[in-house]
Parts: sequence; structure tokens; C-alpha cells
Amino acid sequence: MKRFSISLFSAAMLASSIASAQTQTLNIYSARHYPTDEALYSTFTQATGIKINRVDADDAGIVARLKAEGTASPADVILLVDASRLWRGEVEGLFQPVKSKLLMQAIPEQLRSKPTADGASSWFGFSTRARVIVYDKLKIKREDVDTYEELGDPKNAGKLCIRSGSHPYNLSLFGAVMEHLGESKTQDWLKGMVSNMARPPKGGDTDQIKGVASGECGIAVTNTYYMARILRSDKPEDKAVAERVSVVFPNQNSWGTHVNIAGGAMAKNAKNPANAIKFLEYLASPAAQEHFANGNNEWPIAKGVTISNPALQAMSGGNFKRESMPVNVIGMNQIKVQQILDRVGFR
Ligand code: FE
Repeated sequence: MKRFSISLFSAAMLASSIASAQTQTLNIYSARHYPTDEALYSTFTQATGIKINRVDADDAGIVARLKAEGTASPADVILLVDASRLWRGEVEGLFQPVKSKLLMQAIPEQLRSKPTADGASSWFGFSTRARVIVYDKLKIKREDVDTYEELGDPKNAGKLCIRSGSHPYNLSLFGAVMEHLGESKTQDWLKGMVSNMARPPKGGDTDQIKGVASGECGIAVTNTYYMARILRSDKPEDKAVAERVSVVFPNQNSWGTHVNIAGGAMAKNAKNPANAIKFLEYLASPAAQEHFANGNNEWPIAKGVTISNPALQAMSGGNFKRESMPVNVIGMNQIKVQQILDRVGFR
């Protein structure tokens, strides 16, 4: 009788532990818009048994949704693809600081939010992407486009293609340039870019690269992974683009090429905080870092992780000088940058 009751008890325990294992979940709001990321999530679920529910939206959509949901928000982890958005999320109180020895050691201080007195950060960069200039090999001389400043130089009139000035990738680049040039020179520079445009801003980064290949633009600005995708593609139309377009990592003789981050944070009202920290720590692991490098052609961030990707190698010649400013400075400049864009009519 006793044995029977014990085994009943064990069965109940087993059932409840299975149930709790089954209900281990993690809710991610993600602005990573890269189809190759599916493997990133499935590897985590395989290793931990934690099921991921994902909401995909752009950075602005995620921030709006978190605000609307307030304390009822089911979000545990927020993934954004730009430093100034991460900075803004922190300022608006959408994140809660994470105290993790592993993350503090793995992620360089320059690429995460300013740590609190007790050593917690509100957000962490997990991969980097450079914002580079591409140009038409047939019409443009490399020495005319090897600095960001030259994008606004009259010698490049009528040649520039670039996506909307208010897009986070551009706000961050312009915010970084403002840190180097100051407000007044940055305004002149952006005004120069408006006069140099081959067409009003439209489309994404890939559209700008294709604009160069088609001859509509001589010069364009893009994140590196969009160019890397084209370089790795087997499609004849992409091979033709790769043939016509050259990449330059700007400002190698001054402050270095602007590098942005994609990163993540724990949501302010996370319902599964332990799982959220587990996932953020997973993003700093070699497996996830390798995914960023080989899946989406980004540079890994975690210390001690080195990965070679032939397209990244080919573009940068293996190495390049990166801007060294802490990424949270870039966020702080974005409001002023937006005001300048409005003044100079950079749509
Ligand atoms: Fe992107």
C-alpha cells in the first residue's frame, strides 16, 4: 500500500515536472529582419528546451507596442538592430538592467549600455555592422569617396543615393559624425549631401547598391551585410552587381569607419526573467556568434570569438579601422541630428 502511494506520488511529480518543462517559454520581440536567424532560435530551444514565441516588427513598431502594453506586456527579450534605438529604449524605461558576469566579461564595455553602480547593463550589443560607401567602378574614383565628409562635397554633385535620413542606420551614422565634426559642420555636411543626391531617398540599403549597379547612382551608403549577401549570392543578377560595384571603408586615415550594433535587452516587465537572461547569455556564446557571422554576415562581438566569413574578408581586406566611440554616445545625438535633417530638408 505504501509502495503504491509512493509510486503515485512519483508519477504525479513526474507529470508536474514534464508540465513545467513543457511550459518553459520565452517571448521575444525582434527587429532582426533576417531570414537566416531561424537557426539562431532553434539552436537555443534544442539546447534548453525553452520554447520561443516571437513577435517580429521594426524597431519603432516594437517600442510602440511595449509602451502600449505597459505592465501587461508578455515580452521577455527585446532585440533591436541599431544603437540609437537601444539607447532610446533604455531612456524610455522599457528595459530592466541585467546583472550577468558572463555578459559583462564577454561584451566589451564600449558596446553595451553604461553599467549601473552595481555592475548591471540595460542592453548589450551582440554583433556589429559597418556603414560603408559603395561606388560605381566605371565612373567614380576611389579617392573621391574614401571619407564620409566627401559624401557632402560638391565634387560629388548628382551622384549620391541613400535611404531616408531618418532611418535609424542613418541617424546613428550622422550622430557619430556629429560627435567628430560638431553641430555646425555636420549641418553643412548634411546640406551638401542633399544637394548631391541623384534621386530623393527611397528604399532600403540593397536598393541603393542596385542603383549604383544600374548606373542611376554613382555612390551609395549601405550596411556591410547587405553587400556581403550580394557577394555571396550565386544569382547572375547579383554577380553582375558585384562586378560593377566597389566597397570602401571610409575614414581609414582619420577616426575610422562607423560601426553600428545589433543587440538585446531584458524587457522591463519580463514574465520569464531567468529564461531571458539565459537567452541573452546564449547570444554571446560561440554558437550564436558564429551564426551572426556566417548566417547574416555580421562581425561577432564576444571576446575570444574569431570567425572568418569570406565575404566580410573580401570587403574589408581582413581588417579595418573602426570608430572607437562608445555606442551610447551615438544615441544621445539623434534628437539634434533629426532637427538638422528637418532644417536642411533631408527626407
Ligand atoms: Fe538591416
